[in-house]
Amino acid sequence: MNVSIIGGGIAGCATAYYLTRDGHDVTLFERDSLASHASGFALGGLHPHIGGAADDPYEKLSHYSMGLHKQLAKTVSGTDSDDESLNFIRKPSLLLVKDQAEAVAARRVYETYAKDYSLDIRWLGLGELSHIDARISGDVLGGLYQGEAHELDPYQLTLAIWQAAESQGARIVNRSVTAIAIEGDHVSGVVTGGQNFEADAVVAAAGPWSSELLSDVGVDVPITPLKGQIIRLNAPGPALKVSLSWGTDYAITKPDGLTWIGTTEEEVGFDDRTTDEARDRIIGSAVEMLPYLEDAELVQQTACLRPMAPDKMPIIDAEPGPEGLVIATGGGRQGILVGPALGETTAALVVGNEPPVDISAFSLARFS
Ligand SMILES: Cc1cc2nc3c(=O)[nH]c(=O)nc-3n(C[C@H](O)[C@H](O)[C@H](O)COP(=O)(O)OP(=O)(O)OC[C@H]3O[C@@H](n4cnc5c(N)ncnc54)[C@H](O)[C@@H]3O)c2cc1C
Repeated sequence: MNVSIIGGGIAGCATAYYLTRDGHDVTLFERDSLASHASGFALGGLHPHIGGAADDPYEKLSHYSMGLHKQLAKTVSGTDSDDESLNFIRKPSLLLVKDQAEAVAARRVYETYAKDYSLDIRWLGLGELSHIDARISGDVLGGLYQGEAHELDPYQLTLAIWQAAESQGARIVNRSVTAIAIEGDHVSGVVTGGQNFEADAVVAAAGPWSSELLSDVGVDVPITPLKGQIIRLNAPGPALKVSLSWGTDYAITKPDGLTWIGTTEEEVGFDDRTTDEARDRIIGSAVEMLPYLEDAELVQQTACLRPMAPDKMPIIDAEPGPEGLVIATGGGRQGILVGPALGETTAALVVGNEPPVDISAFSLARFS
């Protein structure tokens, strides 16, 4: 099958990888560079979702994708061990809580998962927290520890997945797709700068730009850009051993020794510039939790746009629109984590196979 993929972020590259692995002919269209938006500038935390609801489809997808990450860390690097170039490492996460309501919610999650030893979920009181890192503010009441969490370099991962796809025959065209071409009730390819590229199927994996592209073919996809900013710090003292989060914010020391803190959730359209206001808020929040960061030096500030659906879940669907069109977007705040599952299930939809994990909850129909 001849497939055109629009978008060279993790969603598009992972789809290209799984399609070419199964012998399909793939051309990927990227108007900037591969992983030059959210997929290259994300934090890279892989924390499988623990929502607490039985049979939560998003939880299942995120755990399934975590399994794919473990395979990819070996296969895309061609080694038998976790690939150091991806910086794929186990890094427990710790959700810090500051008030009673948050503590009750976190303890409830702990009680739900306490017997699932594979996830290694624990509730830590302030005394135990100080064994993890004595620099955590004394205002914190406790923390929800998740041992089975990982982190990686999302830019290196996306490039490595693409290189694996390329070695299996995928091609890249560095152009902007201006339209999805349709003949009758079936897609016939994509149009870039007046030139037509024929295809049997088209995958729309254009991140936050997917809505615009799809509305031209009559498909209404409620994906909007949600801007997030991150600050990289040169911090004094030893590295943080675990990745810390609180509310919507976080702090983690990356393998290059820098401590990354974030983040923002800004609804400002496609403006992806960094701002002083976000810098001050992110640093203020981090210093409140980790007072030692007051003496840190700012090294870099980045901003990028998450493709976000109203319910924060992905959209993976082949039903709406002309035949042969498959939508793969909506990674939201966990698009790196769910990227491999998004790619593998999208590849299955393209060729008409049963997806390896239940994705019925991620259809576009849920919004109608
Ligand atoms: C600050 C921040 C931190 C994050 N941290 C994490 C994290 O720790 N863990 C996690 O799992 N997720 C994280 N995410 C989320 C994650 O980065 C995204 O969900 C994910 O990268 C989205 O991937 P994508 O491929 O769908 O979109 P993108 O990476 O945006 O890729 C889409 C691509 O499509 C291209 N494109 C668009 N339109 C066209 C067109 N017409 N023609 C050709 N090309 C086109 C764009 O140029 C772009 O390269 C974070 C996001 C942000 C903003």
